[in-house]
Amino acid sequence: MDFAFTEEQQMFRNTVRDFLEKEVLPLIPEAEKTGKYPVHLLRKMGELGFLGIHYPKEYGGSEAPMVTQCMFAEDTGRVSICFTDTPSTVVGCGKSICLSATEEVKRRYMPGVVRGETQITPALAEPSGGSDLGGIKTTAVRDGDSYIINGQKTFIPYVELADFALVLATIDPSKRTAGLTQLLVPKDTPGYSVSPLRFMGLHFSGYGSIFLDNCRVPKENLIGGEGEYLAVAEFLGDERVRVAAAAVGSADACYKEALKYSKERVAFGRPIGKFQAISSRLVDMAIEVETARWLTYWAASLWDRGQKAVKESTMAKLYATEMGLRVTESAMRILAGWGYIEGSLIERHFRDARGYLFGAGTPEIERIVISREL
Ligand SMILES: Cc1cc2nc3c(=O)[nH]c(=O)nc-3n(C[C@H](O)[C@H](O)[C@H](O)COP(=O)(O)OP(=O)(O)OC[C@H]3O[C@@H](n4cnc5c(N)ncnc54)[C@H](O)[C@@H]3O)c2cc1C
Repeated sequence: MDFAFTEEQQMFRNTVRDFLEKEVLPLIPEAEKTGKYPVHLLRKMGELGFLGIHYPKEYGGSEAPMVTQCMFAEDTGRVSICFTDTPSTVVGCGKSICLSATEEVKRRYMPGVVRGETQITPALAEPSGGSDLGGIKTTAVRDGDSYIINGQKTFIPYVELADFALVLATIDPSKRTAGLTQLLVPKDTPGYSVSPLRFMGLHFSGYGSIFLDNCRVPKENLIGGEGEYLAVAEFLGDERVRVAAAAVGSADACYKEALKYSKERVAFGRPIGKFQAISSRLVDMAIEVETARWLTYWAASLWDRGQKAVKESTMAKLYATEMGLRVTESAMRILAGWGYIEGSLIERHFRDARGYLFGAGTPEIERIVISREL
């Protein structure tokens, strides 16, 4: 198997890294403190073509291979998963729209998404649960040429920033998953309100709740048919491989920081990396990061070869995010007190790693998905 990146992919990677280093890294301390996402960067990412890599050319995208999409996720994850999250949040919604909205809806919204001007947030989870989607309580009731939506969503990213929520509702709770339906709800719809919440990490991903009180949307805002959410969601399995790539980037950043520190920090007259307890830990970290990386790019390459690699993508996401817990913890142990300073690179990734374990499915649910495919 040949996993070498093409020249075009290398050039793309250089552009992404240059942008992240010069324009994004310096803004992170402030964003962490205020919890505000640096919105102006979205337009820049749009101009540089980063947001279009996931979408078809007819809607302004560049339809890059999944491997390229993972390269972007890995590099943004290395800086802060909050930067993978915004585009990838848009990706999940944008892909749903590209797959199943009417042509008119695609042409109306997708160019804005690709330019970084339109933000759409995926609103699935509810206060009563996120794993058991068949049990969601938000309802969509047809009324003439509209749907009336009632319910509450929680753990939703960018609630204040998003122009639209792609809301998962049921047209008939007794049908469980067969009743699940997606609707695009503009934030200025009467009855739509939001309230922020603060997670332990991912501080500037703008998480919060959305309240939908008799929100009326035109029937054209239905994304896919009534009860057809699962049919669309099946094709969105590639979302997990991008989360895996971001987890690899985050863990790799911590591993490299710990490696550097182990060469500089002196104890008992020698660099701590000379102590076998520390060097063994670094070896384990390096192996784990590399294993997760190749599992991820292997899954991505299967999508690029036309396979619906749900099992491999879920394996990659599960392994990479659990690996992220171990590697960020090991890095913190190596930096000890300096790794425990609030806002330091290790501390930030340590917190964020514990969050992205749950996004796009919990480990328990992922193990169920994989076991069905064995
Ligand atoms: C960082 C982060 C980002 C998120 N992003 C989004 C987003 O963009 N959009 C969105 O809609 N939601 C998002 N969520 C919500 C996320 O999807 C849910 O947290 C997740 O689905 C789990 O739901 P829950 O927290 O309500 O836990 P529950 O579903 O109540 O689960 C509680 C526990 O029970 C376990 N469990 C449940 N069912 C089973 C089973 N059958 N077998 C074994 N164990 C089981 C779970 O694994 C978990 O350990 C995000 C959450 C986090 C933390």
